[in-house]
Amino acid sequence: MSDEPVEIESKIAPPNINCPHCDSMLSHRLGEITCTVCTAVVRVDHKPTRDDWIDEKVSCPSCTKVLRVGVDERPCALRCSACETVFKVVRKVVKVEVTCPSCDRQLRIRPRAGTRKLTCPACTDTFNVTF
Ligand SMILES: [Zn+2]
Ligand SMILES: [Zn+2]
Ligand SMILES: [Zn+2]
Repeated sequence: MSDEPVEIESKIAPPNINCPHCDSMLSHRLGEITCTVCTAVVRVDHKPTRDDWIDEKVSCPSCTKVLRVGVDERPCALRCSACETVFKVVRKVVKVEVTCPSCDRQLRIRPRAGTRKLTCPACTDTFNVTF
C-alpha cells in the first residue's frame, strides 16, 4: 500500500491553443506554458474552462459520493465530505485522431508539439505528424 492519493482524470480539457510565435500546438493546460518547439512562454487563460472545472462533478473513489470539485485548476486535491478520503483530480489526457496515409486507419494518439514519426499498427507504414 502507498500513501499516494488516488487520481481521477478530469473530463474537461482546455481548448486547443497554438503558440502565437511558431504556431505549434501548446499542451492542454492553463497558466504559463512553455512552447516545446520555440521555448516561448505563453500565458493561456480560458474562463469557460475554469468555470467548468469549478462545476465539475466527480465520484469519490472510496464511497462513490458525487462531489462538486469547486476548484478552478487541474490537478487539484479534494477531500470527500462523506468518508474524508483525499484524492486528486488530474488533467484530462487529450487524444487526437490521425489517419494513416497508407491504409486510412484511424490512430488515437496523445498530441505533442512538433513533428514526430508514427508507425501504423495495421500496415506498419511510417509517416510523420506535426502539431
Ligand atoms: Zn512556439
Ligand atoms: Zn467518499
Ligand atoms: Zn496504415
